[in-house]
Amino acid sequence: MIEELVMDFIQNSKRNYISEADALDESVVGLKLFDTPLIGYADAGDELFERFKTDTKITGGRFMPPKEWLHDANTVVSIFMPYSREIKSGNSRDMITPSNEWLHARYEGQKLIEELSRFLIDELTKRGYQCVAPDIDDRFKSFMGTGTSGTVGNKGLTNSDYGSNWSERHVAFVAGLGTFGLSKGLITKKGIAGRFTSIITDLKHEPSHRDYQGIYEYCTMCGVCVKNCPAGAITLERGKDHTLCADYLDGMLETFYPRYGCGKCQVKVPCQDGIPKKRQK
Ligand code: SF4
Ligand code: SF4
Repeated sequence: MIEELVMDFIQNSKRNYISEADALDESVVGLKLFDTPLIGYADAGDELFERFKTDTKITGGRFMPPKEWLHDANTVVSIFMPYSREIKSGNSRDMITPSNEWLHARYEGQKLIEELSRFLIDELTKRGYQCVAPDIDDRFKSFMGTGTSGTVGNKGLTNSDYGSNWSERHVAFVAGLGTFGLSKGLITKKGIAGRFTSIITDLKHEPSHRDYQGIYEYCTMCGVCVKNCPAGAITLERGKDHTLCADYLDGMLETFYPRYGCGKCQVKVPCQDGIPKKRQK
């Protein structure tokens, strides 16, 4: 039922196409933001959620497990919205500044995702289920965040200063959608370039199978995202430095306000459109 609702919404939403009124230039009018989503299900009582709460390296130790959002929660539904081919190729033209396509996907795309969350809450509530979408819930808190991943004036902060009380990528990992990449994006069967949302509900659904064990299992550590990053925020040795990335995004926000973005670690990489092939030994 949830798949049908999500697919129906995406196929019929005008917001999935850049409107003439919003368009930053004529060439992007009518471009599709997202392709067909991927959906994964997790048991709301999965022990990984409790581990996220107590491990300070994960989401800054501030994670709220599903049952703290919704007392009677049974299932967490995680949804990956892969960017369309046009959005990804647009952002591959210039590897320093975000393309207009990408700016729309981050800004108007986020509005679409929030609309999807509200739609799912309405539809499930009509059918008698309880439902919470943390990304639009008043209790959601992003620490050191402006809604991107940082804020103006990040100097002196370390990776552990960044976090939130709900992490869409960690939830997607639990729901079988994929594993992390060196750039800290989540590599799914439809690639790393896209956005996530999730809902917590008392509806019961079989959890999806996780065909991985390690959190970086799908990443080949090829280092292409290291070379792509205009901020020098990713290294093979230490992964992603959130402060450097957040500073760069803040610069883009000043230039393109109210839009922002970068995403060069998600395009022109072997994990852009799917799980990369392991290198031959
Ligand atoms: S570009 Fe290579 S190293 Fe970076 S996340 Fe993708 S597979 Fe991993
Ligand atoms: S890590 Fe941040 S600054 Fe670097 S490419 Fe990715 S989004 Fe851009």
